[in-house]
Amino acid sequence: MSDTSADELLFVPLGGAGEIGMNLNLYGFGPPGNETWLMVDLGVTFNDGELPGVDVIMPDPAFIEERRGNLAALVLTHAHEDHLGAVPYLWPRLKCPIYATPFTVSVLKRKLSETDFADQVEIIEVALGSRFSIGPFDLELVTLTHSIPEPNAIALRTPLGTVFHTGDWKFDPDPVIGEPADEATLSRIGEEGALAVVCDSTNVFVDGSTGSEADILDNLSGIIAGCAGQVAVACFATNVARLETIATAAARNGRDVVLAGRSLQRITEAARENGYMQDVPAFLMEEDAGFLPDDKTLIICTGSQGEPRAALARIAAEDHPRINLNPGDTLIFSSRVIPGNERAIGELQAKFLRRGIKVITAKDHMIHVSGHPARDELTRMYQHLRPQIAVPVHGELRHLVEHAELARGCQVTHAIVNENGGAVRLAPGAPGIIDHVAVGRLTSDGNRLVPTGSEIVKSRTRAMWHGFAVVTVIVDQGEVDDEMPISTSGLLDDEDDPILDEVRLAVRDAIDKLSPGAEQADDLVVSEAARVAARRAFRGLFDKRPITRVHLVRLD
Ligand SMILES: [Zn+2]
Ligand SMILES: [Zn+2]
Repeated sequence: MSDTSADELLFVPLGGAGEIGMNLNLYGFGPPGNETWLMVDLGVTFNDGELPGVDVIMPDPAFIEERRGNLAALVLTHAHEDHLGAVPYLWPRLKCPIYATPFTVSVLKRKLSETDFADQVEIIEVALGSRFSIGPFDLELVTLTHSIPEPNAIALRTPLGTVFHTGDWKFDPDPVIGEPADEATLSRIGEEGALAVVCDSTNVFVDGSTGSEADILDNLSGIIAGCAGQVAVACFATNVARLETIATAAARNGRDVVLAGRSLQRITEAARENGYMQDVPAFLMEEDAGFLPDDKTLIICTGSQGEPRAALARIAAEDHPRINLNPGDTLIFSSRVIPGNERAIGELQAKFLRRGIKVITAKDHMIHVSGHPARDELTRMYQHLRPQIAVPVHGELRHLVEHAELARGCQVTHAIVNENGGAVRLAPGAPGIIDHVAVGRLTSDGNRLVPTGSEIVKSRTRAMWHGFAVVTVIVDQGEVDDEMPISTSGLLDDEDDPILDEVRLAVRDAIDKLSPGAEQADDLVVSEAARVAARRAFRGLFDKRPITRVHLVRLD
């Protein structure tokens, strides 16, 4: 029996603190070194182009993987990729039960159905607003508003106090999907006494309130009313509230909705299965698009960030099997520009503009609102909960610092700026960061997970920047042969370019300089001398440092 007086309450984010994306939060309760852990969310982030050949990136769960015997469960706040997208990749390393509300369960099951361990995962469906226990933690879900159904905050009660984990949220008085946030419950939790709030920082630099999803409906309807031909609207597949808004605007204008993109079909199936989107007519599939009159068609498509494999990129390239946009048609971007994607989106829009298709974006009209709280909403949250401690998450460091400042302005005594890996002791005693645990990023590279800092990823990045060269050195009877094939990639247009003779000369010189006996007989010494010489020669020729490999072939 442990001495409960020695128990601690810890918060350790392994992802999502110091960045926006790949959330992984851990709460620990118990005696130091033998805590019971609860994981909240397990998400991915998308490659911003820095790492070639890589699709998604996720937190390295090594810290909790080593303690998985003490990991009681994973609780998912909502169904966005940055909160559950890593489950299909990382669950086999954790093997814990997963708790989620019905819509999130539907989305999760669809994702897991593509793995070979779907039937091994214990999924416990919990109702909105429900209260249940996991190990030493007593959880109460509180429904807030966001851009997807069922955004749950969690009031996490422990013998050392209550932590309120907000998840992603805003206060939307008319969220289109679901009910407005349950502010009465927030006040009640505040009155009971909240020790700490762990809260979304995404929009801490935005003054006022974020704005309501309902405001977009009238604007979109008006724009669509003025369109003659086909209308296409690009948005995030997971923004189910927006899908409903767009569908309602389409219905008001007598247009049928066609979904382009499998992810849209999957998410709307999950939504309808759980009683959402009941007021909008059934959607048509891509294959139906050709049978509708242009002025009765509205196409919703994925790919608003310029993603090369998404429906919109294929429509832009006139490469989509079933959907064509023509001069006079209109394309509306009902989405934000994720920083880093400006160029890809600009190029995508240019392809449509060149073909006489009108492009409307959120810069021209109010057709997008964020799903995250602006400053007035954050202030209202702190007024409801009145915690002693604030730990901002879901933000880059600049967001966390600004959010901590805002929390202090709301009379929160301890506002703690903590990045991934920082172990915060919330209780007992004065709160603060007491340790740093190992963190890292993994990427799904083909069918494997590899650390982003690994040699595999580094050398691929390097090959992208500097090219690649293979020098084959043939040694015949102790002499370097005149023949020295060099293959390059990303360095020269023509592999027979005589400029490569300079590399051959340098390699031969380097080998000749080795001592004739011991050194020249040693394959490792010869290969390394050749590699260093070839690299130096490439650098002299092109001011590039290609990955350079040497194949040594001895004919004697
Ligand atoms: Zn979200
Ligand atoms: Zn998020």
